[in-house]
Amino acid sequence: MKKCILCETDKEDNEFNKEHVIPKQLGGTLTIENLCKDCNSKLGNELDQDIARNILYKTYKLGEKIKSNRRNFINPFPIFTSEEDENRQIEMGHDEEGNLKITHNPQAKSTMELKGDKISGEIIKAEFSIDATIPEDERLNKIKELCEQEGCKLTPEDEEKIKSRQLKTRSVNSKESFYMSEEVDLWPIIQLYVRIAYEIAFYKLGDSYFDDPMKNKLKNYLESDDHDIENLDERHGIIVNYFPEENEVAEPIKHLADYKKHNDADRLLHFILIFPMMIDGVKQINVLINLFNKRTFRVLISEDFDNYDIKSFNAILMFKNRSHIEVNI
Ligand SMILES: [Zn+2]
Repeated sequence: MKKCILCETDKEDNEFNKEHVIPKQLGGTLTIENLCKDCNSKLGNELDQDIARNILYKTYKLGEKIKSNRRNFINPFPIFTSEEDENRQIEMGHDEEGNLKITHNPQAKSTMELKGDKISGEIIKAEFSIDATIPEDERLNKIKELCEQEGCKLTPEDEEKIKSRQLKTRSVNSKESFYMSEEVDLWPIIQLYVRIAYEIAFYKLGDSYFDDPMKNKLKNYLESDDHDIENLDERHGIIVNYFPEENEVAEPIKHLADYKKHNDADRLLHFILIFPMMIDGVKQINVLINLFNKRTFRVLISEDFDNYDIKSFNAILMFKNRSHIEVNI
């Protein structure tokens, strides 16, 4: 028998199954086994579908070459409109390996950024290589020609560089921007971060967390059907926000940055950091969650770290090769 962390009912062991703390479809590998099957499907189904449909996560997944449950790549993109020519619409796609592909250029790279409830995207479209044997006077024309084939333009600065031989032989990068105005439903994202923090709280703090007042607040929020993400503090007494990496509470991030410097940071896909710290006279324990190396979210999970045997910062690092490690930093 064990107690489910959400419904808090004692159940037989076979009434539990593996729960991925970060959804498997986002490349998560860390699992817990104290969420009962009923709660797992109640909590997971709607949310996981929302996350799977969310264009932001689709983009991040494709960027990291993560396949869907059906083992194919999902194309996250709608039709883009070119910034240079609003009549020009470009359909984005990808090849079998999951590389982004626009028209005939297989080297396209994309960036996507969340601003408020909108995402904006940019596709860096073309990168050209020029053969060193091409005579200098033909080089500019050759590059222009290649650019035109890719449907983008050289800037006057690019041309100057080519003429003045600053760009001697090799390559010139040229960009074509595509803008999109896609509304993103932030509720599933907030719900996901709260769920991750809640599960990590039990994972790291153990069953003593059942008695924490913050546990009740997070649990009530998770079980509510409140889709409004504003003023969660006032309505639910919980704090979920972007983590300000610049200010004085950024100490754990500095520790992590040091750690990453000495390890292979390029391999990192997600990280979760749990840290006890006195903030404004309150003995807070926060969970910092960073998915896909994008912005870090903070979820407050306790206001009294004395109740737990937790001394240092604990990091759970998840890597692109689908492995993870836990370290004290
Ligand atoms: Zn349960």
